[in-house]
Amino acid sequence: VLELREITKVYGSGPAEVHALTGVNLSVRAGEMVAVMGPSGSGKSTLLTIAGSLERPTSGEVLVEGVPLAGMSRAEQARMRRRHVGYVFQDFNLLPGLTAAENIALPLELDGVKARKAAEAARRALEQVGLAEQATRFPDELSGGQRQRVAIARALVGERRLLLADEPSGALDTRTGEAVIRLLRTFCKKGATAVLATHDAQLAAWADRVVFVRDGVAIDQTAPPAGPESLLAEP
Ligand code: ATP
Ligand code: MG
Repeated sequence: VLELREITKVYGSGPAEVHALTGVNLSVRAGEMVAVMGPSGSGKSTLLTIAGSLERPTSGEVLVEGVPLAGMSRAEQARMRRRHVGYVFQDFNLLPGLTAAENIALPLELDGVKARKAAEAARRALEQVGLAEQATRFPDELSGGQRQRVAIARALVGERRLLLADEPSGALDTRTGEAVIRLLRTFCKKGATAVLATHDAQLAAWADRVVFVRDGVAIDQTAPPAGPESLLAEP
């Protein structure tokens, strides 16, 4: 479903140059839930934005469903993102002028779904994340955790096959966090794929695979490491 080949990302130039990623290879199969872990600044968010074609790599290749992104026009990339990729941003990126339900319905409407159908799908998505009551609230009337769940509902709505989520359980209490993890697992059981950047060992424990990023280098692990301590160890 998703393949990263020898991805390198350099931000800035000259003395201000930051090597965010160096020679990263990652291959994710359909139905897999992959956790990307690593210390702050190690390159997790950069990895996700490149995988989601929100940012171009400095070098290397990204293939979605076997198709190289570099070979697509900008319009084709945008259509591919809207149809197939759900993205949960680290800072949620909800539109402040739209209600929770409208935020979720928007990507569907942009993709040509009729307003009534989109609203119905948004209602179901809000139900799934336990926010049916908050449908008509605006983002600034929601708590951080509620905003996060709206962002997750927005990313899951429609027939998305690939979910890229940056710290999807970061702002959630244990109970809500667990509910979101179960929701993501169900999503993957139905054949969809999720790549999650996270500091949350509880979330990572549910993943099929953990990829550890340190200083822009990814170390692919076939199974989640044993204990939370090993996941959280920082130098
Ligand atoms: P966190 O756990 O804090 O979210 P992260 O693992 O997601 O961290 P990234 O956001 O991918 O880390 O950042 C990797 C490196 O790239 C950092 O050194 C960061 O300062 C740098 N970086 C990220 N985005 C930019 C940007 N737009 N311009 C310049 N440098 C950037
Ligand atoms: Mg990040």
